Amino acid sequence: MAPTLPNSPKSARPSSAHTNVSGKPTKSKVTKSYRDDENKELSRLRDQHSKEIARLLEQQEQQDRQISNLRSEHASETANRISIHNAKLAKWEAYGAKKVNENNKLKCVVHEQAEDLKRAEDELDVQRSAQTCRVCLSAPRDCIFLGCGHLVCCRVCVARLPYERRGEGLPPRSGYKECPVCRKWSRQRKVFVS
Ligand SMILES: [Zn+2]
Ligand SMILES: [Zn+2]
Repeated sequence: MAPTLPNSPKSARPSSAHTNVSGKPTKSKVTKSYRDDENKELSRLRDQHSKEIARLLEQQEQQDRQISNLRSEHASETANRISIHNAKLAKWEAYGAKKVNENNKLKCVVHEQAEDLKRAEDELDVQRSAQTCRVCLSAPRDCIFLGCGHLVCCRVCVARLPYERRGEGLPPRSGYKECPVCRKWSRQRKVFVS
């Protein structure tokens, strides 16, 4: 007793086989037409895209040219301004150097004049001291020792000097006094300087 299979292969397939046979040519035709449309659209889109890219590239180039021109103008203007500025600076530096030079010359003149003044004052001091009594250092010299010719004292100081003593028990030698410079005894005389 062999068991019989409940599902035979013949029972299920006929319906699907029928659809396949009837729909095949129609579907292929539709797909082809659709693909053609799709390709056309794609081509159109590509074309449009290419044009857009070309337009953008051209725009980009134009902008680059403008930027380059602006840079060039800016560089030229900057160089021009720097040149003007440097010229002004050089002028001011020259002016400053001239003023410094003049100032230095004035300083030299002032310095020279100060030295001249100092020399004149020193000379005046020497002359004053040469005319001042060497004993009291204040009154003018106006009394000369006739024996040696020295004019070094004022008459007040000479009056205070003692007369020459000639010896024990003898009176002093009238009119003779000792020169404070050379120690020589002599008479004196008042001098007048005009
Ligand atoms: Zn004196
Ligand atoms: Zn003397």
